[in-house]
Amino acid sequence: MKIDLSGKTALVTGASRGIGEAIARRLGEAGAHVICAARSAESVNKLAGEIGNASGLALDITAPDVRDRIGAVLKERGIDILVNNAGVTDDDLFIRMKPEAWTKVLHTNLDSAFHITQEIVKKMLRARWGRVINISSVVGLMGNPGQVNYASSKAALIGFTKSLALEIGSRNITVNAIAPGYISTAMTDALPDETREKLTERIALKRLGTTDDIAHSVVFLASEQASYITGTVLNVSGGLYT
Ligand code: NDP
Repeated sequence: MKIDLSGKTALVTGASRGIGEAIARRLGEAGAHVICAARSAESVNKLAGEIGNASGLALDITAPDVRDRIGAVLKERGIDILVNNAGVTDDDLFIRMKPEAWTKVLHTNLDSAFHITQEIVKKMLRARWGRVINISSVVGLMGNPGQVNYASSKAALIGFTKSLALEIGSRNITVNAIAPGYISTAMTDALPDETREKLTERIALKRLGTTDDIAHSVVFLASEQASYITGTVLNVSGGLYT
């Protein structure tokens, strides 16, 4: 099965590092033109240069003008594949959680997906083809102490995914979520060995996931081969949660 995304344009938020960077690289390898978005202009421009058929977009997804910024991109070219990947954590036990930490996480992880997706879907509806892929988390399915704000945002993205899939399926637009488990990134690499071993013990496949484990799932969901899949949550957690 060869996945060919040539002729398609993808926008990936949070592409400056980690999972988003891997998603951008794999979509580019599959032939898509990739718009790599994040706040760090230097990182996304560098990545776009390495991918080749790509461009960098310095974008703060929480900025009040985010809709205008997306509108300006859409004037240049249609977006066929949207990957809402950018996300943040601000952990604390619920009883101590500051309202600012709640608002920041919900605003970045959920509100921004609403604004960006609405702008892009308007154009997908006219094109009668589209893929929306939301990066949620297994934490949104199973909960996690210290992450009431983050788990709420990721669970909400699943409700968002399922509802929007039902609304726009008749226009040939699929909407799916991916729920990654523990993925090896700079953050998990910095954990003490003992903490990482304890985490690994809880995973059926006995390893952390790689950023490519998530990226390959995104490429599949973006492909023509996945055209009959919508409203689903693909759990890519190595069996951490089943
Ligand atoms: P990183 O912290 O490594 O990267 C986050 C990305 O989001 C960066 O590119 C960052 O770019 C971007 N970003 C953050 N805030 C904003 C903003 N306001 N505007 C624009 N871009 C922003 O995260 P991961 O790669 O680990 O995670 C990616 C996604 O996967 C997140 O949604 C996360 O919740 C989810 N996930 C991750 C897991 C893991 O184990 N790593 C597990 C489950 C889910 P910049 O700072 O340049 O703006």
